[in-house]
Amino acid sequence: MDQYSKGLLTFIQEHPSVYHVIEGQRRKLTEAGYAPLSESRQWKLQEGGKYFVTRNDSALIAFRIPRRSFRGFMIMASHSDSPVLKIKENPEITVDGKYTKLNVELYGGALLGPWFDRPLSVAGRVLVRTDSRISSKLLNIPRDLVLIPSLAIHMDRTANEGRALKVQKDMLPLYGLAGDMSFPDLIAAEAGVPAESIVSYDLFVYNRQAPSVWGAAGEFLSSPRLDDLQCVYSSLCGFLESTDADSIPVHVVFDNEEVGSMTKQGAASSFLKDVLERIAEELGLSRGEYREKLAQSFMLSADNAHALHPNYPEKCDPVNRPVLGGGVVLKQSGNQKYATDAVSAAVVRMLAEKAGVRLQVFTNHSDIPGGSTLGNISSQQVAVKTADVGIAQLAMHSPYETCGAADTAELVKLAKMLYSSSLSEKEDGIEIITPRFPIE
Ligand SMILES: [Zn+2]
Repeated sequence: MDQYSKGLLTFIQEHPSVYHVIEGQRRKLTEAGYAPLSESRQWKLQEGGKYFVTRNDSALIAFRIPRRSFRGFMIMASHSDSPVLKIKENPEITVDGKYTKLNVELYGGALLGPWFDRPLSVAGRVLVRTDSRISSKLLNIPRDLVLIPSLAIHMDRTANEGRALKVQKDMLPLYGLAGDMSFPDLIAAEAGVPAESIVSYDLFVYNRQAPSVWGAAGEFLSSPRLDDLQCVYSSLCGFLESTDADSIPVHVVFDNEEVGSMTKQGAASSFLKDVLERIAEELGLSRGEYREKLAQSFMLSADNAHALHPNYPEKCDPVNRPVLGGGVVLKQSGNQKYATDAVSAAVVRMLAEKAGVRLQVFTNHSDIPGGSTLGNISSQQVAVKTADVGIAQLAMHSPYETCGAADTAELVKLAKMLYSSSLSEKEDGIEIITPRFPIE
């Protein structure tokens, strides 16, 4: 297993909720000398400075200020969230006075079937009151805590013929026996605070199954939340390893992609726009100059893609069907659900060629509408040339997804090339200025 696959699996296992993911990124950036900025405080940016800012503790933007004048922003955006079961308020439901199960609802478009019969736990954040203050505390219960049991085949003989799964009926995890420690008390004990001081929470059920590398030659990798932590992780690796260019590299992690991005920390929000405008103001750019920079900017919207499925090849496009281990996927869609167009595809091809990255193309089967992602949504707030890319995977939105073990390193190389490059608009086209030395 290469260092990036190894790093990715550790990253996923150590960060079981969106808040942990952003905390992990914050820690990595701080270790690399990046200074935290707050949206509620004044910024004093310096040439050669390295910064990051978070919103809602679930979205993050990091950037570097070059020492010389710059052409534009080189942006890569991914998302921190995954489809999951969210724990409701007043979560305990008693069954026959014997069992306690937890009341949950769905967050995002999860594949429900694979959640059954596997060890699960709970992670997220709790809001704790001390006098007139509230503070957010990360919470993870690092042991097998709950499980959603299947109904035995003897009690539903048609189970293998397709059963409609309802969250309220079928998906409530078993927590304990009546009389065990209550869920609120357990949460408080784990958080190390009195139960009455917890005023609210965002807690999610997560899959505890460890990632695995498998296949005849160890070519496959399975793990929870590859969509989209594989892109989050690759983007940050490429960002931290990139060399300075005549551009501002911007690493972006949005939240709430799985529920349509329409929140203050999602791709449809002003987060990226606010940060880019604030950088421009800090650097003393006029509005006109800022717009010139935007016109010479580029964004990779990075979110995983569907690979050719061995049992359902007919679901894929007859030609453009990426495979696991085939390199980075360039995603295209006629109705612009993906932001890629001929111009941005050409830019990606040139960056990939320069970086020695293998590219494969994804298009939907023309009679199957497919999904969407954050590139075209973000473009409505910050209009820059954008291409959608990702890593080919199977079982998207299952709690245990599968990809090619070699592909993370490919996306890291592409990210590193993007962040080390700049674009220059010319009368007769775009010049792509890549680093003078080839990138390893
Ligand atoms: Zn995604």
